Amino acid sequence: MINLKGLDLGELQALVSQMEEAPYRAGQIMRWIYQRDVEHFDEMTDLSKELRHRLSLCCRIERIQVEAEERSADGTRKFLFRLHDGAMIEAVWIPDGARRTACVSSQAGCGIGCPFCATALGGLARNLTAGEIVDQVLALSRLTGERITHVVFMGMGEPFANYQQVIKAARLLTDPLGYGLGARHITISTSGIVPAIRRFAQEKRQFVLAVSLHAATDDVRDFLVPLNRKYPVAELLAACREYTASTRRRVTFEYVMIRDVNDGLDQALTLSRLLKGMLCHVNLIPLNPVPESGLDRSRPETIHRFAHVLREAGIAVTVRRERGSDIQAACGQLRRSRAR
Ligand code: SF4
Repeated sequence: MINLKGLDLGELQALVSQMEEAPYRAGQIMRWIYQRDVEHFDEMTDLSKELRHRLSLCCRIERIQVEAEERSADGTRKFLFRLHDGAMIEAVWIPDGARRTACVSSQAGCGIGCPFCATALGGLARNLTAGEIVDQVLALSRLTGERITHVVFMGMGEPFANYQQVIKAARLLTDPLGYGLGARHITISTSGIVPAIRRFAQEKRQFVLAVSLHAATDDVRDFLVPLNRKYPVAELLAACREYTASTRRRVTFEYVMIRDVNDGLDQALTLSRLLKGMLCHVNLIPLNPVPESGLDRSRPETIHRFAHVLREAGIAVTVRRERGSDIQAACGQLRRSRAR
């Protein structure tokens, strides 16, 4: 049985042509899957009964299943989903004014091993398919009754370690026959896989690039993002500069603020020197502590001092408002609590 969720227009056209149906049927099926989120072929009322029956014999439309949910007082809702093979992933729905952001996972688990992250503790189970990624957006929309306006690939996993499926999912989410989001409403985050950043610069659609920097020097970043030993800070920032030069799009640098680890004046000054004049934006994120890590979040006054140093150097900075801190909203925490 072929799972239709995750197929793009070309793949659906190939399927309907094998069934000796007209090519426009592919577009109709695509709308039913990604826009109307149907689960059964019977619901595809603009297809003939005969075609619906034939589809049901060889195809299915998979759905991820809700395993658990937590709701924050600020409206944020976090879901633990079970995939068809029993793998567990998390996705978060974040309402903010008129925005409805879906924070989605790209892998079940993660192999990067950042010490402040709950997902890292279980290692990598497997990559997600494009269908499983898109289905997180459809499921969040279905479960909340509201259309998603923005998608961020900042849940479990390193998106660029699953490049093809992540980009395919992002394309399905922006396809006018798919979910129909604007490309600029999709942010893909990486912990710094340099060759993938170069490849991403060649993508035709204007997805937003976010880089989890978290430190300005190799000694600190080697500890916080072990991938830094392969792609050190200078190499990573060189790739980001190439990216901004060739796309004319800015990079968002994520910087999780961890007390007495990466929040000192020395890191702030080095960072402002490294980023000065670059087309970028820095997002300071107070750490959502994971008990096992022994790491704590920076004090508010330290975060403000850090932001001030960067602003003085002319760098655009925001301090991320905490969302869902009363639920287990940091990536991987809900799954971990259920595994215990
Ligand atoms: S922070 Fe991101 S890249 Fe690092 S281990 Fe967690 S999920 Fe992986």
